[in-house]
Amino acid sequence: MACVSYPYAAPVSQTLFDRAAVVTPGGVNSPVRAFRAVGGTPRFMVSGTGPYLTDADGREYVDLVCSWGPMILGHAHPEVTAAVQAAVARGTSFGTPGEGEVALAEEIVARVGPVDQVRLVSSGTEATMSAIRLARGFTGRAKVIKFAGCYHGHVDALLAAAGSGVATFGLPDTPGVTGAQAGDTVVLPYNDLEAVRAAFAAHPGEIACVITEASPGNMGVVPPLPGFNAGLKELCAEHGALYISDEVMTGFRVSKAGWYGIDGVEPDLMTFGKVMGGGFPAAAFGGRAEVMARLAPAGPVYQAGTLSGNPVATAAGLAQLRLLDDAAYDAVDAASARLRALVTEALAKEGVEHRVQAAGNMFSVFFTGDEVTDYEKAKAQQAFRFTAFFHSMLSQGVYLPPSAFESWFLSTTHDERALERVAEALPGAARAAAEATE
Ligand code: PLP
Repeated sequence: MACVSYPYAAPVSQTLFDRAAVVTPGGVNSPVRAFRAVGGTPRFMVSGTGPYLTDADGREYVDLVCSWGPMILGHAHPEVTAAVQAAVARGTSFGTPGEGEVALAEEIVARVGPVDQVRLVSSGTEATMSAIRLARGFTGRAKVIKFAGCYHGHVDALLAAAGSGVATFGLPDTPGVTGAQAGDTVVLPYNDLEAVRAAFAAHPGEIACVITEASPGNMGVVPPLPGFNAGLKELCAEHGALYISDEVMTGFRVSKAGWYGIDGVEPDLMTFGKVMGGGFPAAAFGGRAEVMARLAPAGPVYQAGTLSGNPVATAAGLAQLRLLDDAAYDAVDAASARLRALVTEALAKEGVEHRVQAAGNMFSVFFTGDEVTDYEKAKAQQAFRFTAFFHSMLSQGVYLPPSAFESWFLSTTHDERALERVAEALPGAARAAAEATE
């Protein structure tokens, strides 16, 4: 990284980052925001409209992160904003049931066939943590199978080989997670059904569930190979374990019913977040009625939350989901296809080895010539080329995820004008990637 020079300064962001570092560890509230993987000054954003963000130095960017997925209608969508303003005016939290949370749950149940019932929570981490507890409570078993490179939030038991955040920092694991907490987690290579079969054979009657990202986006975009999710479902059914599909990232983003809407494999439990909160902290887990009936107060497995089903968050999520019709997904898919073609063209022209991998409208660019089917292959890419590519794009007003191990996200507002601006930046960024050295 020593050879990278950062094309321009961001003095106001730098001042804010210095201030932040005094009162917040590393100056950020979520590690990847600190730009450590790519170096330079994180941009402090002050506003967003449609596909654009404006930073504290007054520079505008085409946003290809979309808050890591949630902003699928672009920033400050007028109808979502109006719904939020109306909800705020009625009061921001009651700690009682409310109609908004019923309506949001109904919307989710209507969209996603395998979900009979849903429980609302405030973050994706809470959703996966609670789904795992429920699976353990339902089966009376302790062990959980997860896959290397899949991230399910910062749940203790799931912070083993957990993809982007960990890949970004090169940490094998995290201090603070005890052997006991991680001891019941079996980590297997992604896309390897034989390994799953062997794990079930090695731990007969002990595995409560298999949790997998429906289509992983946290080691870059690495879709399941044909038959992989169906194979997981089958093995779980055969061995009395639950199949948990984590759709926090893909849910309501890659289709009306998320990845389930694409591959049709029916999980026992599913987790959601991001898009369903419309930019607010709302997430959920749900699934078969028989399993969900084990959750308190209907059943004995405890789970709760002061702000769960918050009226402002549910109003935002509901407004966003109701606007996400077939035409909206068609628009995001088309923008994604166009952008993928532009990226491929620019990198190919400079002779840069790369693969653009997509899962619906999510995609990422790997700087390698080989297909990436698991975490080991993702890590084998030439990430230093991404660093040069990223900074060139940033200096030209395009905001990419600041890590080579993340998905790029688009919205319904990424129109011709926004994509044209990205197209103009790509030749320079491809050149920078070609010239980069380790
Ligand atoms: N699961 C997946 C697949 C995710 O991508 C994420 C976050 O990126 C999470 C869970 C955790 O969600 P949150 O950051 O809302 O806790």
